[in-house]
Amino acid sequence: MAENYDVIIIGTGAGGGTLAHTLAPSGKRILLLERGPFLTRETDNWDPGPVFVDGKYISKDTWYDADGKPFQPQAHYFVGGATKMYGAALYRLRPADFGEIRFSDGISPAWPLDYGDLEPYYTRAEWLYQVHGDHGEDPTEGPASRQYPWPAVSHEPRIQELADDLAAAGYHPFHAPCGVLLNEDHRAASECIRCAWVDGYPCLVHAKSDAEVIAVRPLLGLPNVTLVVGAEVTQLRTDQSGRSVTDVVVTRAGQRESYSADIVVLAAGTANTAKILLRSASDRHSAGLANGSDQVGRNYMFHNSRAVVALAKQPNETVFQKTLGLNDFYLANRSRPPLGNIQMLGKSNPEAMKGEEPELTKLAPHWGLEEVARHSLDIWLTTEDLPKPDNRVTVDSDGKIHLAYRFTNAGETAALYDELKTILNKTGLAAHHVLSKNFYMDMRIPIAAVAHQAGTVRFGSDPLTSVADVNCRAHELDNLYFADASIFPSIGAVNPALTVLANAIRVGDHIAERLR
Ligand SMILES: Cc1cc2nc3c(=O)[nH]c(=O)nc-3n(C[C@H](O)[C@H](O)[C@H](O)COP(=O)(O)OP(=O)(O)OC[C@H]3O[C@@H](n4cnc5c(N)ncnc54)[C@H](O)[C@@H]3O)c2cc1C
Repeated sequence: MAENYDVIIIGTGAGGGTLAHTLAPSGKRILLLERGPFLTRETDNWDPGPVFVDGKYISKDTWYDADGKPFQPQAHYFVGGATKMYGAALYRLRPADFGEIRFSDGISPAWPLDYGDLEPYYTRAEWLYQVHGDHGEDPTEGPASRQYPWPAVSHEPRIQELADDLAAAGYHPFHAPCGVLLNEDHRAASECIRCAWVDGYPCLVHAKSDAEVIAVRPLLGLPNVTLVVGAEVTQLRTDQSGRSVTDVVVTRAGQRESYSADIVVLAAGTANTAKILLRSASDRHSAGLANGSDQVGRNYMFHNSRAVVALAKQPNETVFQKTLGLNDFYLANRSRPPLGNIQMLGKSNPEAMKGEEPELTKLAPHWGLEEVARHSLDIWLTTEDLPKPDNRVTVDSDGKIHLAYRFTNAGETAALYDELKTILNKTGLAAHHVLSKNFYMDMRIPIAAVAHQAGTVRFGSDPLTSVADVNCRAHELDNLYFADASIFPSIGAVNPALTVLANAIRVGDHIAERLR
């Protein structure tokens, strides 16, 4: 007979890995099921060719859009999940994000808890993930009960110059919070961490604060924690009453296996968490497990993001560019709704540009792209998108994911872009552009860019409009919890991972208390 665990956690990314780390000291017997392998440490990790052109670390999944057109989602199935590739920009949501916010295309709904409820967990997440930053610099952020564990990563000269120019023009630039291991405990790694390979690359020297390095690896020797990799969860089965998950069905190396636990936590990432629930339909849960509200899979969000390359005559020799953020347009004012966040991106390089824009760059000579990259300032704009019921994940009879998505808040996205152009003009960048007038290589992020996916299993107090309660337990089941980005009722306009980490610690505390 299969062994029974206290807790099974499905997925080892930001949510699942961090939850396991929170629960492990309880001594309870924990099984981590992860569909991917460990990401191999190899020189390709830092090579834009394999990473961006070949997509070596992108899953081989095929998903389908609303018209049934196949696409390859930029999903990453490894121990550590998407955090293996993330940019480690670890922002808190603003206090206003937890309430209702009106946008041109509708309302961003309130969370069932407020900023103050999550604040202690934000602090714990920042300390666990060794975030560098400076609380108090960004006027839009909420109160912090504790300063970051490490000072902000300093700007390199070109970014410092930009920060000075922004401040002189009346803006409020701040040092972006960043999860990199620059401290004394990681001296060896820190020798090469001032590198370009953070955003979109796995870290060869394990000096990025990802969920594998920070949360999962430290548990590997513990007698009460078992990790099974290559284990794709396909279905959850319940008892006769439909109130308890009894079996976690897994495909591993082509074989079917089954595991059981007193408590099961789904943290497979937004789309896959919904997929597992939808594929677990039964007599008791005919529309999918925990889906009496018909909310599972709905309200998918992924941010209205835009990557912009501003070209200046002056070369930009910055290596680690992601040190600056700007939230001057984040909050609503009397004349406009909230527009969003502006931050620096990882530095462009010719190979990555070819991978990201094969059509646009195919005729460009390599030296031409090198010059573009040398002079680029890479900027990321994020506007909040809204949780719309028809923006949803469904699953077909073959178990394939279908993702229907329509952009919202296009007006706010355009307004933020206009603000950026004003900023670039005010900070003297326009005068130095390679071309005689402003030139931006502008990349709208398509549906396949699922990096910031959230929603599909939102939590709330009303079982008619949400899937999980305030503790992230399924309303309809006694022993099923969620700990990933799927629970977000709204997404805000800052990067989501720190909120996933903080909430996973919160859910972990709750489960530990319940098991006690
Ligand atoms: C290139 C990139 C850059 C990013 N940059 C940032 C950033 O700078 N800042 C930020 O805040 N966020 C960033 N993000 C987003 C951030 O990584 C995610 O928001 C976060 O990882 C989501 O956490 P999660 O737990 O929901 O999912 P994940 O971290 O993806 O974890 C899900 C896990 O479940 C596993 N899994 C999936 N299906 C199954 C199954 N059926 N059975 C078993 N296991 C399964 C997956 O393999 C994975 O390990 C970035 C993401 C990417 C891809």
